[in-house]
Order: sequence, then C-alpha cells, then structure tokens
Amino acid sequence: MTTTLLLTHPACLEHDTGFGHPERADRLRAIEHALEGERFHYLSREQAPLADLAVIERLHPHSYVEGVRAAIPKREHNWLDPDTIVSPKSWEAALRAAGAVVHAVDQVMAGSVKNAFCAVRPPGHHAEPARAMGFCLFNNVAIGALHARAAHGASRVAVIDFDVHHGNGTQAAFWSDKDLFYGSTHQMPLFPGTGAASETGVGNICNAPLKPGDGSEAFRHAFGTRILPALDDFAPDFLLVSAGFDAHIRDPLAQLRLTESDFAWVTEKLLEAARKHTGGRLVSTLEGGYDLDALAKSAAVHVATLMGA
Ligand SMILES: [Zn+2]
Repeated sequence: MTTTLLLTHPACLEHDTGFGHPERADRLRAIEHALEGERFHYLSREQAPLADLAVIERLHPHSYVEGVRAAIPKREHNWLDPDTIVSPKSWEAALRAAGAVVHAVDQVMAGSVKNAFCAVRPPGHHAEPARAMGFCLFNNVAIGALHARAAHGASRVAVIDFDVHHGNGTQAAFWSDKDLFYGSTHQMPLFPGTGAASETGVGNICNAPLKPGDGSEAFRHAFGTRILPALDDFAPDFLLVSAGFDAHIRDPLAQLRLTESDFAWVTEKLLEAARKHTGGRLVSTLEGGYDLDALAKSAAVHVATLMGA
C-alpha cells in the first residue's frame, strides 16, 4: 500500500536566488536524485498545484501578498531583504510551495495516503504574517496548519520544526492561538535570533534551543524531554513538520552535529506521536539544508522513514 505522497514541481527549480546563494535550485535536484532509488518506488508522486490566494490569505494579509507579487521583477533579481531574493519565476514557485502543503493536507485528510513530504522551495518558516525574511516568502507550513483547521475541521494543529534555525514566522503566526502548537529545536545563538525557551506564547510554544557544537545526544535529549512531552500534552489532531536538514554536521550555515540517523530517529518519534494523536496523519515540508550531499541523504532517510509508517 502507498503510505506516502511526495509533492514537488519544476517551477520550484526556477526560483532563482542568484549566483552563490545557499538556497538554490540544486538543493531540490539533489533530493529528487536521491529519491529515484528502488526503495522509493512505492511513493505516490504528484505535482504541486498552485495555492489559492484566499488560502494564503488566511495567514498573510492581502496587502502583504500583493506586495510580494509587486516585488517580482520582470528580469534578473529583486531583494525583499538582504537574504531574500526573488526572480521572475519566484511567484509561481511560492504558490506551488504553499500549494504543495495545502494539497498534502487535503490528501492526508481524505485518507488517500497516510503522510506526505513536500520537496519545495522557497522555504517558509521564517516568513512572518507581514514580513518576508530568511529566504522565505510565504509560510508554507503555517498556511497548511490553518488550512487543516478551516477546510477539514481540525481543531488542534501542531507544527514541529527541527530545522537548525528557529521558525520565527511560524511562532509569530501561532503566538496567541491556544489551538495551534509550535515546537522547535534550533541552534542559539543563530539567525533569526528568536527561539529562547522563555518564548512560550499562550503556553502553546515550546522552544528547545541547542548550543553550537551540540550533537545527537543533546538533540535527542531536547526532543525527548521537552518537545515530545509538550506535543503529547497538546494532543493535536493534525501534525505538520518543518523538515530542515541544516542541523547536519556538514551544513555550512550552522554548527550542530547531527547525522542522517538523527533525522531517521526524529521522524520515527514524530510518526509515533502521529499514530497516538492524529491517526497517523502527518504532513512534512522542506525548510533548510545547504550541503547538497547531506541534504539529499537526510531527506531520503526522512522520506524512507515516513514510508515505513
Ligand atoms: Zn534553516
């Protein structure tokens, strides 16, 4: 039986961030190549649809969405901030990236697959409701969370984020809504600077910062003693994952020391939580990961673990 849906779209390769930018199309090419192997034969594969603007605007104000659209250049590049660059095809890529997560939520909720992974870019977790930053235009995972609630009647939705950077955008989106939960491990100090353990929203935010140089033991301890118990207490009826693989030891943008086995471990733990609380329903979406080989191997391990669910 097919358990896992893989969503991506060629337009996500055409979001051009310019020469030398770490968030580049080759990231997705590396993941696609890694997912060509025999063990991925039973993946269900679909192209990501465009997200409806009304679905994006559950999270982002209309004026912000139109501002992003207006910033797309006819040629070459434009800068939304020093890190966040758009090119002529970025609008479609951003709509496909959000659309992938929304469609994944629809398919998992419909029961046609158990879980899904969205191999998309631009990433999303740094995008605040009214601010693009950190390579992110629309907050794909938060849009998916609000869609699960609005379109499918989920009442308590959780996002778990193991990207090495704190998902300030998701935290900002969820901050005062007790029926949305955000849990994150991340390196501190590091961009974007948020994510202290003292940032708790209305009791619905759980941050477990890690120190530069921390590895497998500290990561699993933080997840096992902080994030997973808080997720259990929250008892979601839908679970989304911000899957960034930049906590890998080989990643050039951060100093944590995880390996593929840690990503397999955390994926299995999240599946266990999903089996306990959400009937196994889980949607994961790509965030960071900037060493191509580490990213490809880590994403492959993540997807293979999802398929074993
Ligand atoms: Zn990151």
